[in-house]
Amino acid sequence: MNTASPAESIIERARTHFVLRQRFYATIALPMPLIEASERTHTMATDGVSLYYNSEYVASLNRDQMITLLAHEVLHPAKGHHTRRGKRDPELWNIAGDHEINLELTEQGFTPLPGWLCDHKYYGMAPESIYAALYKEREEERKQQPQQNGSQQDGNGNGQPEPGNGNGKPGPGPDQPGKAPGQPGGDPAPGEVWDYPGDKEEGEAKRKVLVTQAAQAAKIAGQLSGSLARLAKSETAHKVSWREALQEFAQEKINSDYSWTKPNRRFIADGLYLPGMDGSDLGMIALYVDTSGSIDLNSLNMLAAELTGLLEQFPGAELKVVYCDTQVQGAEEFDSNSTPVKLSAPGGGGTDFRPPFEWWEKSGNPDPACAIYFTDLHCSRYPNKPNYPVLWLTTPVHGRTPPFGQVVEMVD
Ligand SMILES: [Zn+2]
Repeated sequence: MNTASPAESIIERARTHFVLRQRFYATIALPMPLIEASERTHTMATDGVSLYYNSEYVASLNRDQMITLLAHEVLHPAKGHHTRRGKRDPELWNIAGDHEINLELTEQGFTPLPGWLCDHKYYGMAPESIYAALYKEREEERKQQPQQNGSQQDGNGNGQPEPGNGNGKPGPGPDQPGKAPGQPGGDPAPGEVWDYPGDKEEGEAKRKVLVTQAAQAAKIAGQLSGSLARLAKSETAHKVSWREALQEFAQEKINSDYSWTKPNRRFIADGLYLPGMDGSDLGMIALYVDTSGSIDLNSLNMLAAELTGLLEQFPGAELKVVYCDTQVQGAEEFDSNSTPVKLSAPGGGGTDFRPPFEWWEKSGNPDPACAIYFTDLHCSRYPNKPNYPVLWLTTPVHGRTPPFGQVVEMVD
């Protein structure tokens, strides 16, 4: 290791600082190999496995700035930004994650970096919500000046879809030199996150272990406080995150129409390639609620809160609720204009899983993008497998396996 380049030595000194002063960051940063990648990044990047750096950029930073940049790169994977992007636009996802991280780093007293993104209006928000807000803003800006933006966007790549990025798999390098995310003409924001290169679930499992270890190391050294303590707490409590599973399930299905892979036809004539954003394009989420009496109101309210969040994040999506015990007891509809979602439990008899599926088919609605069946699974009357994906959200310890679909237990 005595052959370290000057840039590598600069990064190593920042790692040493963390070993001595902030174990949380050290625990996550130390195992990552350093890889020179000036052709892929203007600053620094991580996919949660390695740290990629641009020698020239690293050499331009003073000690405190390097420490900030390394902490920034640690927080991207610590918060799962490398596994949570889904089908979102990689650039905008980076911007969203940067706001979340940099607000925290500011709070922890780190020295700001030139050109970093740190807007206080996003304080306390999850990156998915920041992304949704940024997306909406960008859409509105485009609508206001579609003509002027056309040639510019072709030039800097901001309006172009990137094949291979829409499927959740990492491209050879999500960053393209010369791009200025969110800041036309400006420098790219420092510190990128790229998708985890392997299986997302595996990456997420590794992340949880590492964050827990990092928090423990920091706690022993008496260095765990503030936002790091909160981050660690959410991991050490080790909740089976039915919320995450539900969000991921629904978002993936909705996103197939929300992503950059589907152009908005209205703008193609003007030479613009914009994502499809019509409400009608986003599709419906079906929620089938088993009202046989074993579902408690508290669980129902928790589910309603999650679905409210989902609709607010995807303003074009619709939620259609069908209540059923042995027969359909009612139906209602929600969208982002009619939130919060409120769920009730009419009925109370036995259980039959077939009627909601039949009801939907007969309703004349197109197939939903996906269906969530909220039930204790105490029933064996299943329909044939529908043409759309189904998630069974169940109360714990049901011990039954439906003949199709994904099962998620609602455990807190
Ligand atoms: Zn970043």
